[in-house]
Amino acid sequence: MLAEPERFSGTGALLPEQPAVLAAAMDAYLAFDTSGRVVAWNPAAEATFGYTHKHAYGRSVEELIVPPQARQAARAELASLAGGLSGHTLGRRLQWTARHADGHDLPIEMTLTATDNNGGRVFHVFAHDVTTAQRASRFIAVEAAVARGLAEADSSTSAAARVVEAVGVKMGWPVTELWVVDEDRQILICAARHVEPGRQLRDFCIDVLEPGVALPGRVCADGTPHWIPDLGTDAGSLRSRAAARLGLHVAVGVPLCTGRHVLGALCVYGDRVEDPEDTLLGLLSGLAAQIGQYVERRRAEELAIELARTKDEFLAMVTHELRNPLMVITGTTALLDEDIEDLPTDERRHYLRIIVRNAERLSIMAEDLLDLARLESGHLAINPTSTDLCEIIHQALNAAAPPPDKNLTITVSLPERLQLYADPARLRQVADNLLSNAIKYTPAGGTVTITVTTDDNDHHITWTVADTGIGIPAAERPRLFRRFYRASTALEHRIPGTGLGLVIARTIIERHHGTITLSDHTGPGTTFTIELPTKPR
Ligand code: ADP
Repeated sequence: MLAEPERFSGTGALLPEQPAVLAAAMDAYLAFDTSGRVVAWNPAAEATFGYTHKHAYGRSVEELIVPPQARQAARAELASLAGGLSGHTLGRRLQWTARHADGHDLPIEMTLTATDNNGGRVFHVFAHDVTTAQRASRFIAVEAAVARGLAEADSSTSAAARVVEAVGVKMGWPVTELWVVDEDRQILICAARHVEPGRQLRDFCIDVLEPGVALPGRVCADGTPHWIPDLGTDAGSLRSRAAARLGLHVAVGVPLCTGRHVLGALCVYGDRVEDPEDTLLGLLSGLAAQIGQYVERRRAEELAIELARTKDEFLAMVTHELRNPLMVITGTTALLDEDIEDLPTDERRHYLRIIVRNAERLSIMAEDLLDLARLESGHLAINPTSTDLCEIIHQALNAAAPPPDKNLTITVSLPERLQLYADPARLRQVADNLLSNAIKYTPAGGTVTITVTTDDNDHHITWTVADTGIGIPAAERPRLFRRFYRASTALEHRIPGTGLGLVIARTIIERHHGTITLSDHTGPGTTFTIELPTKPR
């Protein structure tokens, strides 16, 4: 005879002849008849599936623990078992996914057996939750995949991509990101992002963050793991709310550290996290330590290569850019020295102007090299004060003196005044560099256009310098702000230059919390766009 419900209520007690062993069993035990009605449900089943015995007894086992997508197959299996067949499940040890009372799915290992008695056939299930075991093997697989990714990658970029893919795919997180700190520019850059197929990220998908901002920024700022259990209520972060709008609910971020130095952050975003907080943090922190060591080793190697390359480029630049004006100066001085008595005054002046122009070129180069050294050592001083950008641009225009034979048209569209909080001398350096480049790289008859506008509440300035000159090939644009980099167009036209001005300009603008970018261009020429805040931070 099968147990009555009231004899089980709240206790998970069992058939009189087997209470002790099944009530004390660590495995979930449940039994059901040929119609699928639950006839036994022990305390471990209560703990595993979340239903009390009282709640489960007499209900359909399918409705209780079979996920909707598996119900049709389960019904067919029960029909064949009820008909006396052995089906696919009877007498076997199976891995299966069950549905918990709170709606989440859990992996279980189970056996199904049948007994026949007077009341008909009864099926017995012994099951246990294998989430922990599966998690452990998943963690081992992630660690192995990350280690393999790091060992096989041939650059930091491909290592970052392999790491986020390994973590995202193996752990099943919808979004995994690896952020690294760019110390030069004092920002965080998303080195790689893995997104599960079919998920759109819209405004959540940004690649640059300021320190302290959003989850990656917070993790890097204080160098400790962060756990956001509910992104929708994370009031301090716009990005958290953008994630919540995409259906992402929880997020975890751990720092990539070596010693006390924070190199970046590994962040994952999920719909729900079934792992206990501390186990997951343990796994992620272990991975982050591994990645941190790799990043530091790789940075040291890349720095050594970069220094060697810089040394070569520096030597090439100095040899060319220093020797040319020096040769002009020494040659012209020798010529003047020899013929000074015979040369008419006009010609003497002409030669003197050549000497002055070339000496100025050398002096600008010396200043740029000094600025570069200050920039590399972090000592490029910025002294902001209330400054009129329009006045600075007018000063740069007055000093520019484009060669008259070039016949350039220079068009300017500026408000009368535009006050912002900035270092006037440094902004003048930027204005001089962009204007002199536009003039230098634009052939005769071209046009240079400078515009400055502000947003509606005067908080942001957009300053563009456009020309119709030789342009910069799209493929080379990402390298443009590297020191000593010169575009192929400049080299083909044999236009002199050092490749230093834009690096310095970018540092100055970024120290003013602004950005300088090369805009996409249709038609010939180049457009630089600078965005600057007007107010101090
Ligand atoms: P320089 O002009 O002394 O070489 P910059 O750092 O100012 O150094 O510029 C770096 C490179 O960017 C230049 O060598 C040139 O190839 C390219 N460039 C900069 N501005 C322009 C422009 N307006 N038009 C075309 N190319 C430009």
